[in-house]
Amino acid sequence: MRCEICGREARLRRALVEGVEMMVCDECSKYGIVLPERKRRMAVPAMKVKKIVPYSKDVFEEMRQELVADWGKKIKEARLKKGLSREELGAKVGEKTTTIAKIENEELRPPDETVRKLEKVLEIKLFQEVEDAVVKHSEVRPLTLGDLLKNAKRD
Ligand SMILES: [Zn+2]
Repeated sequence: MRCEICGREARLRRALVEGVEMMVCDECSKYGIVLPERKRRMAVPAMKVKKIVPYSKDVFEEMRQELVADWGKKIKEARLKKGLSREELGAKVGEKTTTIAKIENEELRPPDETVRKLEKVLEIKLFQEVEDAVVKHSEVRPLTLGDLLKNAKRD
């Protein structure tokens, strides 16, 4: 058998090279991780090798807090008040100038981490209290059976 990397005729060993199982010679096995011997060789197609993302974007988005209304405008106004250019603000919060422009136009919802930095740098409040939103929502109370009975008695 020939080594799948260098093509040399040699005693081969199974190794994981860039996520692909290969039969390679001793010399080439150092490019990957040598796997324990197994009777039947099964190649792992490169496409099926899943990339492990430590924090999924979806999870991050679910954790997002509510932003205040007109947050883009608020950021822009606060930045101008501070006499900062988009470039300067970007440098302070670690975002590109174009990203700051998109945020101000509300074309891009900044991640919570960036929002927190913006709040700090611009000295404004961008996150709204979730409790407030809940209270406001409960003010609009549907009529209960009790209400209906009260109304009926009035007639
Ligand atoms: Zn080799």
